[in-house]
This record gives sequence, structure tokens and C-alpha cells, in this order.
Amino acid sequence: MPCTDDRNSAGRLTVDLDALVRNYRAIAARTAPVPVAAVVKADAYGLGAAPIAAALAAAGCRHFFVAHLLEARRLKDRLPNDADLFVLNGLTPGAEAEAADLGVIPVLNTLPQVRAWTALAAERGGVLPAAIQLDSGMSRLGLAPAELDALLAEPVLLSRLDLRLVMSHLACGDAADGVASAEQLAAFLTQADRLPTAPRSLSNSAGSFLDARFHFDLVRPGLALYGAEPHEVPGRALEPVVSLQARIIQLREVPAGARIGYGYSFEAPRPMRLATIGIGYADGWPRALSNRGAAWRGEARLPIVGRVSMDSTILDISALPADALVEGDDVELIGLHQSLDAVAAAAGSITHEILTGLGPRLHRSYHGTQS
Ligand SMILES: *Cc1c(COP(=O)(O)O)cnc(C)c1O
Repeated sequence: MPCTDDRNSAGRLTVDLDALVRNYRAIAARTAPVPVAAVVKADAYGLGAAPIAAALAAAGCRHFFVAHLLEARRLKDRLPNDADLFVLNGLTPGAEAEAADLGVIPVLNTLPQVRAWTALAAERGGVLPAAIQLDSGMSRLGLAPAELDALLAEPVLLSRLDLRLVMSHLACGDAADGVASAEQLAAFLTQADRLPTAPRSLSNSAGSFLDARFHFDLVRPGLALYGAEPHEVPGRALEPVVSLQARIIQLREVPAGARIGYGYSFEAPRPMRLATIGIGYADGWPRALSNRGAAWRGEARLPIVGRVSMDSTILDISALPADALVEGDDVELIGLHQSLDAVAAAAGSITHEILTGLGPRLHRSYHGTQS
């Protein structure tokens, strides 16, 4: 049998593009008539920005967000000509001309960025498209109120911008009480009202599931498109998009007292049957799952024993009949029996971090729309 990449990788990541598109439509149905942008930074949260963006563009999405100009450069010519591509992390000093030539829309987060972008616009004898981010409370990116004052004190700056979006970002969109989001909403309205009229955007996935006051003219989900629940909202229908399988690379039986994995952090309390799978923390399978996470085979939960290594993880398969598994068999890590949310919870992490951590040694395959 020929060697194939999917069999010789650390694991197989399967992306359901039809589920992705259904999630896009489910969010759009909630926010209608407000359009849904796709946040495809970090290689579409590890799933592959090019196929993800292509599937969403075919479904009608015309607004895309990445974090870096590098990501924008890789993605730009995969998008329809009439799509807007925003760069969330702003403009790197010196990169203005490249950003303009590429035709992306930088999210201007600081006054120096506004100055550099408008200087280039002046040099080129026109205006340049831009988003302006306002800091409505998170203290991460965007103009603070004093910087907004400074910007407004120099009207020539705004006259050089084709203002395509005024945006901010929610720090606590997933909080049950909504107090912080209400405060940010009020701050955003006050600040945005001081700028010329332009489309506005405040909400990530979590905010897209808040009421219509948070939707403005564009919502910007990432995670929800990829099927993870930003927070518990009854009656919501997001579908899992990702499944992950890893392959058994060795089977063994050990006697009671056998010590297992780095640091001997686990000692077999009885004779056990073990399977080592070829995925580890270098692939984004979290080391925090040492002695606490699990894989699944059919209906059987196979606990992780010992520490997760860089390239491998040891499972207790004693629950299965002795000859149930052979070398080369797959186990499920994310799928019907174990959701992405469950993996994140077991690892003490969040779904964003688990998804974006899934590494390049995993073979990615795409089902649905494209295939
Ligand atoms: C990452 C990001 C998003 C998307 O966040 P999700 O929680 O994945 O929906 C939206 N807006 C900004 C500014 C971001 O940085």
C-alpha cells in the first residue's frame, strides 16, 4: 500500500465545510439584516484560511478579518475582488505602501498609524480606505478617548481617510450578567458619535448572540463559525465543524506497578493494556491533558495515562476487548463523543486556544462544499 500523508501524519483533522456554511447562515439569520464577516486570522483558527474563506465567500460572505499583513498577503488573491479584507493588528511602521498596494483595509489602532496612513494618502494624492478602532474599555487595541480628541483636533487627518468601519471589541461578551458589555456599548456609542458617519462593528461571536443593539452594521465572529459555542444560549444551533483522529502507533500490556511516561507520573494500579498514539503537545494536543483527558473508540472512553509527550500520548485501553485494536487503528480525539468544548474544559483552556494550537503535522481534509 502506498504511503499517504493522512496515514503518516500526527493525526487527521477533518473540516466539514457544509457545517461551516450552515453556521455562517445560522448567525446571519440571527443578526439579519446585519451581514456577518468571517474572522479568519491564525489560518482560520488552525482550520486553513484559504478553503475556509473560499467556502464562506461562495456562501456570500464579503468581509474578512485577519490579524497581520502577512496573513492578508497570503489570503488576498483567494478572495473575491469585491471582498473587504481587514487587518486587525493595525499597520506596522514602514508597511503602509505594501498594505495600500495589496488593497487591504488596515484597522488603525493608534494616532501614529493614522498619521502614517494619511501621509501615504496625501503622497498618493487621494484617500485610503481604513477602519478605526476605538478602545471602549478593554485597553488592548484602539484609540483611547484622549487620542480620539487629538485625531478630531486635526480634521485634515480624517479628510484623507475613506472610513469604511468604526469598530471596537468586547472584553466580556460571554459573561452571563452582561454588565461589562453594556458599559462598552455605551462607551462605543459615545466615542463613535464623534466620528463621521461610517459603518460600525462591535461584536465577535459572543456579541453576535447578544441582542440587536450589539450588532450595528457588521458582526465579526470567528469561533462560532467553527462550531464552538461562545456561551450558553438556549435554542442556538451551531454545528461542530472539526473532528480529530489520531493513530495508534504501539500497543502493549503492562503488569501492575508499571510506571508510565515522562516523570513516571502514573503507575499502573493493575495489569493494563495501553495504546500509544502519535499525537502530542507539538501538535497542539495539550500537555495539560496529562492523566486527565481521554480519547474515544466507539462508545469506549480511553483515559490518557501519564504525561502527554511532544509526539505521543499513552491511552489506557483496558476497557476494550483484548483484540479490539491493532496498530494503525484510529481513535477519536474531537468528534461525536468528545466535543471541542469538552477538550478545552478538560485542558483548563478555551476552545479558541485548542483550535488555533492544532499544528501543521496534522493532515487536514475538507468535506462538503468544495469537494
Ligand atoms: C479574534 C477577534 C474576533 C473574533 O473573535 P471570536 O471570539 O472568535 O468570535 C473579532 N474581533 C476582533 C477584534 C478579534 O480580535
